[in-house]
Amino acid sequence: MKINITIKVIIIISLSLFITCSNNKKNIKELKKIPLIYSKNYNIKFLGIQKLHPFDTERPKKIHKYLTGKYGFTKEQFYKPELVTQEELLKVHTQKYLRSLNHSKVIAEIAEMPAIKYLPAFVLKNKLLKPMKYATGGTILGTDVAIEHGFAINLSGGYHHAKANSGEGFCFFADINIAVKKLKEKHNIKSIMIIDLDAHQGNGHESIIKNDTTIHIFDVYNKDIYPDDEDVKQYIDYNFPISKNTKDADYLTIIKEELPKAIKESKPDFIIYNAGTDIFKGDLLGMLSVSEEGIISRDEIVFKNAIENKIPVLMLLSGGYSKKSADITAKSIENILIKHFK
Ligand SMILES: [Zn+2]
Repeated sequence: MKINITIKVIIIISLSLFITCSNNKKNIKELKKIPLIYSKNYNIKFLGIQKLHPFDTERPKKIHKYLTGKYGFTKEQFYKPELVTQEELLKVHTQKYLRSLNHSKVIAEIAEMPAIKYLPAFVLKNKLLKPMKYATGGTILGTDVAIEHGFAINLSGGYHHAKANSGEGFCFFADINIAVKKLKEKHNIKSIMIIDLDAHQGNGHESIIKNDTTIHIFDVYNKDIYPDDEDVKQYIDYNFPISKNTKDADYLTIIKEELPKAIKESKPDFIIYNAGTDIFKGDLLGMLSVSEEGIISRDEIVFKNAIENKIPVLMLLSGGYSKKSADITAKSIENILIKHFK
């Protein structure tokens, strides 16, 4: 009799545990996906490398932490990318260039960190290139997510200096151009606009796109800093070089007045938005003077123009070299979610 009662109690506890577990799983599954793409593999951290370059290599993690902390999003609600495949990379890059990334010297030059050329290539490939391959996979996945939700934000990517047969400016893989290929091949998108509002000229995607009339490039950049790539400026359809220390009013006037005209004229079916925060007034490399509020307004204007015209938009984070970059980006993404995520 005593044994029977014990068995009954065990069965009841097991059943209730099973039901609780099933319910938890069900609840998680039922939680709505948010159109943000993130992987913990995006973050770069090894041997103090994050101190050798002003770029905040853990920005994705900080933004993810801010949003999950404030809104209680679970990790299952984010879209999780796969590594970009060799086949996908070869859609844009030459085999010769990809092979050159087996050498520490080449990696160190592109990353602008001479000191790391003494490290074995396998370490650099695993700790530095792999996170960027995940981020490139995130940009590729972002095309599907943006088409499904109307917009998507990859919490990394935007490597706009990478060219077909070379890398530069901390950019190894031309994720924007690979996404363009995918939009055309998988989604049959005919016309794409790249809005590049990072402080630096997007010479990588410009050099790959060249005279392709189905891609329209809108680029606002500081003309007084790197890369000043004269050869490829001819491929920018809407070219807005601006001067050092440009402030909110002048900067935002260009976006407010010129972007609607450009969209109306080129009628894109999809927008890739490169949203570098290195236009911030405290940024070491961007050398512009746009405030935090100015950056949030800028992103909002781009989203408003895309969403009101029913054009799917994929935002990529690109550059950002001030200590406040992660915080500003997180707040801007929060603003976009509040206004546009239904
Ligand atoms: Zn930049």
